[in-house]
Amino acid sequence: MKKIIAANWKNNGSKKFIKDYFDYFLKNLVSNNEIIIFPPDLYIDKLNHYRDKDNFNLGGQNMTYVCDDVTQTSGHSSDMFIDNGCNYILVGHSEVRGQYTACNEAAKSLYVSNDLQVIFCIGESADAKKNGNTQNVLIKQLEDLCKKGNYPKVNPKKVIVAYEPVWAIGTGNIPKIDDISFIHRFIKTYVSENHPFLKEKDIMVLYGGSVSLKNAQDILSARYVDGVLIGGASLDAEEFTKICNLKI
Ligand code: PEP
Repeated sequence: MKKIIAANWKNNGSKKFIKDYFDYFLKNLVSNNEIIIFPPDLYIDKLNHYRDKDNFNLGGQNMTYVCDDVTQTSGHSSDMFIDNGCNYILVGHSEVRGQYTACNEAAKSLYVSNDLQVIFCIGESADAKKNGNTQNVLIKQLEDLCKKGNYPKVNPKKVIVAYEPVWAIGTGNIPKIDDISFIHRFIKTYVSENHPFLKEKDIMVLYGGSVSLKNAQDILSARYVDGVLIGGASLDAEEFTKICNLKI
């Protein structure tokens, strides 16, 4: 089954890193999965040189919510990402979510996402998990996704949510596989019941947080998991390519 395998490079990379990375990646990629790479904005266009038909997609790591008539220093619009070959955008990643009020500002950027396919990141903190508050926190974040004023101008045909427990990011710890399936199902049910356009089949949920070659097959084979969002392990060209090549 075709899965989404997404690489979030965060603020890593250089021109040399990119050359070495793609020397390996392009020679060894034999994948039917949908691959998305989110490089730092400054290198997005550089990656276009390595694209051939649909070998991988490009995305931006964050988009500032700017109303039509407002300008913002350091802002990036959806049109700029599209102009640079992107078809995806991450919004609300936990490492930038703190700059917003909950997911609300991130969700507002959906409204101006135009033709970009949004990947909306949610996830509970270690404290919320410890206190048994995971589902309440996720509902609060998903409410923003489903809020009327935040609907994109271009109605989405599908929505992609990345479930990334904050306590799993970069720690080497992951939830039990059954817990990942349980939460993914919960997300699909909540969104389909609260979003007017989207049915359960239109809602894809990726898992993110310490995905590696060791655990990727198990995670990708779990029920209700439509793909993975990978940080650290995506910086190793060999490990990432092997994950992309997995057959599920
Ligand atoms: C991330 O930050 O989106 C992420 C999933 O990181 P890591 O894979 O390193 O935990």
